[in-house]
Amino acid sequence: MKIKEAEIKIILDSRGQETLEAEMESGKGKRVKSSVPSGKSRSAYEAFVLNPREAKKIFEEEVREKITKIDFLYQDEFDNFLIKLDGTENKKRLGGNLILALSLAFARLKAEEEELELFEYINKIYQGTMHRVNPTLPRMIFNMINGGSHADNDLEIQEFQVIPQHETIAEGIMAAKKFYRELEEELKNRFEAGEIKLGDEAGFSAPIRGNEQAIKILKETAREFAFREKISFDLSLDAAASSFYEKDKAKYKLNKEELSAKDLEEYYEYLIHKYGIIALEDPFFEDAFGEFAIINKRKGIYIVADDLTSTNPHRVKMAVDAGAADAIIIKPNQAGSLTETIEAAKIAHEAGWQLIVSHRSGETEDDFIADLAVGLSAWGIKSGAPETKYRLNKYFRLSEIEKILNKSL
Ligand code: PEP
Ligand code: MG
Repeated sequence: MKIKEAEIKIILDSRGQETLEAEMESGKGKRVKSSVPSGKSRSAYEAFVLNPREAKKIFEEEVREKITKIDFLYQDEFDNFLIKLDGTENKKRLGGNLILALSLAFARLKAEEEELELFEYINKIYQGTMHRVNPTLPRMIFNMINGGSHADNDLEIQEFQVIPQHETIAEGIMAAKKFYRELEEELKNRFEAGEIKLGDEAGFSAPIRGNEQAIKILKETAREFAFREKISFDLSLDAAASSFYEKDKAKYKLNKEELSAKDLEEYYEYLIHKYGIIALEDPFFEDAFGEFAIINKRKGIYIVADDLTSTNPHRVKMAVDAGAADAIIIKPNQAGSLTETIEAAKIAHEAGWQLIVSHRSGETEDDFIADLAVGLSAWGIKSGAPETKYRLNKYFRLSEIEKILNKSL
């Protein structure tokens, strides 16, 4: 495919911070856009994020002319060209954000040229060398209460999530929205209106006394909801434990106490057992392969690697070899290209792990991750609370894909 025109623009993300949007036109006159999000609880192993203005400059000076001269046949050819042009270990020169914006725009354009839905295009690449993995709809993981670095409150655990057990995606979104409003009412009963705010992922932030209390509030709301509406919600957590790990002391600072990894594991065991939590993300800090492997021996819960693996094929291999988890967060901007994102997903899938495709806490209106989740046949998708356009448009795109899939049955 020949790229006739490519442009990089600076746009604002959900936190009001500058990020990149790529616009691309093919020789046949199709035009697409893609933009990239940014994380706050980032690991040390993610692709480098270049200042957006510097990225735009380097694109205009060095990249644009080159990519409009070559006829790229495949996604990996395009992505590998940019990775090579960058020439560094972590995409420091061009920026993982610039390479990803172009990579995602290329995917959208190529899908259009091939008259495929984006999820079909991704699925075609994913199937490549593997056995058949048909596109399927993921479970939606809604982040209802925000803590950690995503909110200004006393909760160390970053995400308190609910997962509806629904028939259709539309029904699941509707149930999550209702749940969200009921949770708001519950918080209003407990706190002053001015104390209830929204965190980075549009989940609620309030002066809740401790992590267990937040889980208890969700559990009670879910119990009443299931009784009245006949829709059940599972509970899950993203501890994002790197953000409360004190490296110099090798301790975790949680609930105003200093905990060893063993103490923390016992605390998780207690919460899992008492509240029936079904998935626990990043229970330990980002290099704790051994501690992950110990808790991963526990049956009946998904141990989810995010910062630990950072959508980095090399890190995913290390985690698989260590038996560190049985599910993985897939975030394209941790990897910095679609090709590497798919590669990381493939390694985890072949090890029998579940995939959870995820947004970042600083999001744009791009709904690419919905197609990615379906194309990779992911078990789940995380796109924050059922509130604000940045979070909802990914869930709405899933609903559209559901209709497309139903038509083709
Ligand atoms: C996460 O940790 O899963 C997350 C979405 O947060 P961030 O984007 O801030 O890294
Ligand atoms: Mg996480």
